[in-house]
Amino acid sequence: PQTDPQAGAAVKAADRAHVFHSWSAQDLIDPLAVAGAEGSYFWDYDGNRYLDFASGLVYTNIGYQHPKVVAALQEQAGKLATFAPAFAIEARSEAARLIAERTPGDLDKIFFTNGGADAVEHAVRMARLHTGRSKVLSAYRSYHGGTQQAVNITGDPRRWPSDSGTAGVVHFWAPYLYRSRFYAETEQQECERALEHLETTIAFEGPGTIAALILETIPGTAGIMVPPRGYLAGVRDLCDKYGIVFVLDEVMAGFGRTGEWFAADLFEVTPDLMTFAKGVNSGYVPLGGVAISGKIAETFAKRPYPGGLTYSGHPLACAAAVATINVMAEEGVVANAAVVGAQVIEPGLRELAARHASVGEVRGVGMFWALELVKNRETREPLVPYNAAGEANAPMAAFAATAKANGLWPFVNMNRTHVVPPCTITEAEAKEGLAALDAALSVADKYAEQ
Ligand code: PLP
Repeated sequence: PQTDPQAGAAVKAADRAHVFHSWSAQDLIDPLAVAGAEGSYFWDYDGNRYLDFASGLVYTNIGYQHPKVVAALQEQAGKLATFAPAFAIEARSEAARLIAERTPGDLDKIFFTNGGADAVEHAVRMARLHTGRSKVLSAYRSYHGGTQQAVNITGDPRRWPSDSGTAGVVHFWAPYLYRSRFYAETEQQECERALEHLETTIAFEGPGTIAALILETIPGTAGIMVPPRGYLAGVRDLCDKYGIVFVLDEVMAGFGRTGEWFAADLFEVTPDLMTFAKGVNSGYVPLGGVAISGKIAETFAKRPYPGGLTYSGHPLACAAAVATINVMAEEGVVANAAVVGAQVIEPGLRELAARHASVGEVRGVGMFWALELVKNRETREPLVPYNAAGEANAPMAAFAATAKANGLWPFVNMNRTHVVPPCTITEAEAKEGLAALDAALSVADKYAEQ
């Protein structure tokens, strides 16, 4: 990459003066000025290049600047840059068709939103109107978005400042064998006990009060806990038994991330509603949506659905989705995630875990992996406390800084690093990333008991 430190300094200065950043104390952050990106890499103005093991915020599933998607955007901009949602528009129709063809079961109608949080908002609204009930069940250790309802549904500390008593959300524990809430020792026990806990929660909340149960098919930001075989099928059965709308949130897990088009395909479950965003068009233009089953679509066949957005199914966003889905199909991107995941990333991470005392667990599938870092492998004490900040978070900060110094941009959340590169990553790039991770883990090891 070309270097231009002066340009970088100007970008940074305007950012610091005027951009208000997400989830941050504004004076305590130091955003990197980025000059460009291509494929699995991005670079700053000082000539530093980074392999993006975070895929941005886990959304550039086809990498940066894919030429076919960029060309499709240019073409759509020249043809019809925008149009209101009440009309039938080629790019919107085609995006909906391509998505509906891939979503499981009878999820055949697509309501487009601007991103993941508003997809969750609308899924919950549909479920409430469909059932005439109001309560929502969701999991601790989850993330469903930053808008008011979606953040109330979220099961991580980002919810706390925005908790409102009116939201009607009840949280429950989903399976997580490594830190089992159920004293389970096997996947089978964890599965059975998590389902028993869920059914008890439903009974004590009153089945007739619960509109929706929402789960990430595989929880993403919360730690990539792949559910045990049978869990999601069990949840499906409970929802059917009690007339609860089952919502799967595939905002992060969808569109190739797990080595399948949707994570639901791994478990052969079909929810009543499925939310998506991110990978649908690799985030080249904001887009999300809800895939709707026949049963719920029927509720709004003769009765108006009370919800909408100015930019629902924006032509540029939809053209990017059409191009992205076609690229993924033509270039075997979903299969690449499965193959490089199984043949390079998984064995590479297991090999690192064998050599680094700080690695407590490796888990994941496809291009969706988490390393849980611990102080002590026996006690499983996390390398940093839950929701640590400042000095308490120093070990994770040192880990991340070392990764960056070695040309790797890591995804870090609490005591975990996630390996979530673009699904287009090559074997050589994956190996390069694993080598940088090796160096960073050596620093994490200094904080762990050997
Ligand atoms: N749901 C899940 C599972 C997510 O991972 C996210 C974002 O990370 C969201 C919802 C919110 O999506 P957005 O940030 O596009 O509103």
